[in-house]
Amino acid sequence: MTGDALGPGPHTRVRRLPAKANYDRTVIFAILDEARLCHVAASVNGVAMVIPTLHAREGHTIYLHGSASNAVLKAVVQSGVACVSATIYDGLRLARSGFESSIAYRSVVAFGAATLVTEEGEKARILDHFVDAILPGRHHEVRPMLDAERRLTLIVAVTINEASAKISSGPTDDGDEDLELPVWSGTVPARLRFETPIPDTNGAMAKGDIALPPSIVRLLEGQ
Ligand SMILES: Cc1cc2nc3c(=O)[nH]c(=O)nc-3n(C[C@H](O)[C@H](O)[C@H](O)COP(=O)(O)OP(=O)(O)OC[C@H]3O[C@@H](n4cnc5c(N)ncnc54)[C@H](O)[C@@H]3O)c2cc1C
Repeated sequence: MTGDALGPGPHTRVRRLPAKANYDRTVIFAILDEARLCHVAASVNGVAMVIPTLHAREGHTIYLHGSASNAVLKAVVQSGVACVSATIYDGLRLARSGFESSIAYRSVVAFGAATLVTEEGEKARILDHFVDAILPGRHHEVRPMLDAERRLTLIVAVTINEASAKISSGPTDDGDEDLELPVWSGTVPARLRFETPIPDTNGAMAKGDIALPPSIVRLLEGQ
């Protein structure tokens, strides 16, 4: 591992199609930031378990949060090590054979030291960061978090010590022997798109005079 590389390390060497691997921290951080959710794995009572959840990155640290009774997060803290994976779905790569057909994606697998964040001020700061990771600027628009809500929330800081990215893109990987087959082949790009917001109809929202906040306007204009 050299310079800006976060891998390959003992756990992060991509073996299959290694040409698609990338260990550069800039690439890895960009995928983690763009991915809308992640998966966290742990061994719980001897059984491998994975949960999907939200994450927020700051430097080399991935923050995870969940309920204080979350089995996977508790196991991660107990073992002191976390494995976090995040994937962005970029579309279809349709080859002339089913075997070579695949999808376009950017994915990351990261390993790191896991610790529980307990200091109240730091928890508050990270939870605001979480709200903004979902929708930038949103934490200024919602009511501040209550102490009771913070107490119910477990925050785990995962300091990345090795990570890998794998990027599948571009034309399909058909073998030369298949190129003349009369089968449509190519790619169908895909991306996440937010549609017209649907206002809630309860409480103060029922009056219909609350404007779309800047965070949502920016989200819709920026896509
Ligand atoms: C949406 C999606 C669909 C996929 N479909 C297939 C499929 O149908 N068939 C198939 O063979 N593969 C598929 N892959 C790729 C798959 O994730 C693995 O890369 C593949 O199984 C080979 O892993 P390996 O044997 O090289 O690594 P393993 O020995 O399984 O893992 C070793 C290390 O390599 C790194 N690594 C492996 N895969 C990835 C990855 N995707 N991203 C980042 N780091 C990684 C990790 O650090 C991991 O700890 C898919 C990936 C994605 C994201």
